[in-house]
Amino acid sequence: MGLEAQATRHINPYEVALAQYDRAVEYLKLPRGIKEFLRVPKRELHVNFPVRMDNGDIRIFTGYRVHHNTVLGPSKGGIRYAPRVDIDEVRALAMWMTWKCALVNLPFGGAKGAVVCDPYALSNGELERLTRRYASEISLFISPHGDIPAPDMGTNAQIMAWIMDTYSMTIGYSVPAIVTGKPINIGGSQGRTEATGRGVVICMDEALHRMGHSDPSKIRVAIQGFGNVGSHAAKIAHDLGYKVIAVSDVSGGYFNGDGLDIDDVLAYTATSEHHLLKGYPHADPISNAELLALDCDVLAPCALENQITGDNADQVKAFLIVEGANGPTTPEADDILNRKGVEIIPDILANAGGVTVSYFEWVQGLQSFFWDVDEVNRQLRRVLIRAYDEVVRVRHQYGVDMRTAAQITAIKRVGEATLTRGIYP
Ligand code: NAD
Repeated sequence: MGLEAQATRHINPYEVALAQYDRAVEYLKLPRGIKEFLRVPKRELHVNFPVRMDNGDIRIFTGYRVHHNTVLGPSKGGIRYAPRVDIDEVRALAMWMTWKCALVNLPFGGAKGAVVCDPYALSNGELERLTRRYASEISLFISPHGDIPAPDMGTNAQIMAWIMDTYSMTIGYSVPAIVTGKPINIGGSQGRTEATGRGVVICMDEALHRMGHSDPSKIRVAIQGFGNVGSHAAKIAHDLGYKVIAVSDVSGGYFNGDGLDIDDVLAYTATSEHHLLKGYPHADPISNAELLALDCDVLAPCALENQITGDNADQVKAFLIVEGANGPTTPEADDILNRKGVEIIPDILANAGGVTVSYFEWVQGLQSFFWDVDEVNRQLRRVLIRAYDEVVRVRHQYGVDMRTAAQITAIKRVGEATLTRGIYP
């Protein structure tokens, strides 16, 4: 029975991450004990904490921080605020962070955090109090040389600023390197906000060039998710001349076969309720399911896990999928898409732009020496293309798909580093 059927439509992202790992690790000659070690989280923190709401009530929230692996360096990974996030989702995201950092050769391990909450249903004051209390609760786990959080779904630069301030207040001096994805006026990096979307477009562009498509105006792109990753990917692709024909968010999607005017869409969401696409007047409404099955050339899922599954993979018409989101494609869907000849640029490569510029931000913070945006973007491109080349080389070496090649590359690096360090004591 496939993962989808087993889970009666709830697909557990951790099972997906483990299935991907098992597929890739088979190709590697690592000792069995090392393979088992890399498969499990190193440590996990569960916290339940009270927050005073605006009406005077006290509500209890649950949060997590998982360190999957720290062999290559301090652990790095975002914090997600979402109503239904659970420990397995955080474990999966932490594991993907380990592979992502290793793949792009950053001296980081993998981590992830989350708070079970709907950030859009909280006032600004409630969000700040929740964030500061969560930061305080996980201060056992985070430090500028041990574990460095960043934004993910439902969190942003302001939330990172509150975490940085809370940590700094406790320590007694300012510690900008405790988080990345901060506002620029407190030590954030130029180019960080758009880095993940920029990386998605760098990978898309590279894949298309390798496939012989050199005219962006002939390429129709559909993007699911119009948050940090999706909106910047849409804007950067649009500015390069790609025809972005559809975008969507939790409120639904919009389609224009001649290409959307992304600046107009961004101007709309800048002032719409909750910054949602809902009601956008200059395109035809479509559902998220329709977007995934749209007649287009490139599909960029930039929202959630488990969007392309055994149920809908057959309907995908794009010849290239670039995964801005983490875990948007299940292993069953991978099999179907691979059979159909769809090229997939996997999440740990396609969305690694975010953690790469987070690394630049961390380095700049530790050195108190800041780069301009051209330098950031030049180095980002260099890191991603180097990783892309390596994945293609490994793909040919092992005769596997891009996801398995990316995972093989990453797992091999962490496995070999574990052996070099030795087993303590
Ligand atoms: P975000 O909160 O800024 O945006 C998420 C977007 O997804 C929003 O537009 C939201 O409306 C949409 N969405 C939510 N539920 C949806 C649904 N059911 N159908 C369609 N759209 C839906 O989050 P983000 O930071 O853009 O992250 C998106 C994805 O990218 C996540 O998988 C995240 O882990 C991954 N990612 C983010 C970063 C980063 O730097 N922010 C880096 C690497 C990977």
